[in-house]
Amino acid sequence: MEAVVEASELRKSYGETVALAGVSVAIERGEIFGLIGPNGAGKTTLVRALTGTTEPDSGTARVLGDPPPATDRNRLAVLPQAFSPPDRLTAHELLSYYAGLYDDARDPEEVLADVGLADAGDTWYEALSGGQQRRVCVGATLVNDPDVLFLDEPTTGIDPAGRRTVWRLIESLSAGGTTVVLTTHDMAEAERLADRVGLLADGALVADGTPTDLVDEHGGSSRLTIETAAKPAAFDELAYPVEQPSDSRGGESRSPTTDSIVVRAVTPPEIGDVVDYLEEREIAYSGLEWTEPGLEEVYLELASRAELGRTDAADRNRAGGTETETRDDEQTSAGETA
Ligand code: ADP
Repeated sequence: MEAVVEASELRKSYGETVALAGVSVAIERGEIFGLIGPNGAGKTTLVRALTGTTEPDSGTARVLGDPPPATDRNRLAVLPQAFSPPDRLTAHELLSYYAGLYDDARDPEEVLADVGLADAGDTWYEALSGGQQRRVCVGATLVNDPDVLFLDEPTTGIDPAGRRTVWRLIESLSAGGTTVVLTTHDMAEAERLADRVGLLADGALVADGTPTDLVDEHGGSSRLTIETAAKPAAFDELAYPVEQPSDSRGGESRSPTTDSIVVRAVTPPEIGDVVDYLEEREIAYSGLEWTEPGLEEVYLELASRAELGRTDAADRNRAGGTETETRDDEQTSAGETA
């Protein structure tokens, strides 16, 4: 298969901050590549290096065979996270404006229909709802019928029906051969759309695979959540691992919740055993929920592992007497805006 987007050992630092620590990836024609990772992981920097809006310190990038500054702009489209087009235009005028920037462009009416806004063409951009505005922005990236599309959180703020419209649109673009690099914090979106997911943490691609493979490898076991005030000790004789979930998984405040217990690795036919256990011991409960692990579990597991690695490194530095430097993002940001 033909790699349309390629990065090889991309590195980029801003002062002491390492935004990209040697990222290599190859994305094929028609593939939807989901880029996930915590804030500050380097996703925007990677997209910027691939789209030619920032120059890496070292390493190479190629999009459609060319280094990004030389990539044919007629074949590429980028939707940044914060994209605010001029708002004193109607949706139709806006798309016509962007269409005018290309040698060959699609009919704005058609693009409006694609994003589910066929009836909103004459509405001022500023009068559209936030979700409709975002859909016009997605439309603006489609006017040149790009071969490669970078979308940074395309569905943020869009209602569930509109989100599905955009998802179906992205799927049909991919089926038609468009390569899509999708940055998202919405794991359901990544799971549904991405053929392959890359997880960035601290500037490194710590996982790269199909959602199914990543879930098999890092997702852990199923969870049976029991709404109950009983303590974990009440489950000592249950033949499955039991844990008390914390309020904020992966966050800093990990205090245990007092109203639920999670039983791990129970298969659906075994749920009855757990219910029998509750009944026999007269443990009061108000609900049961069984969930399979998904990309969200993968994300939390790998992101917390990266966080642990960082804490360990800081501890080692302290133990070795090396000072850890305070980061100052503002220091080097002059002249580089998204
Ligand atoms: P993400 O998109 O995953 O949130 P970014 O690529 O925006 O991550 O940022 C990666 C790291 O690089 C962060 O620590 C961020 O503060 C830093 N960074 C990004 N851009 C700049 C800049 N222009 N100046 C200084 N630091 C930056």
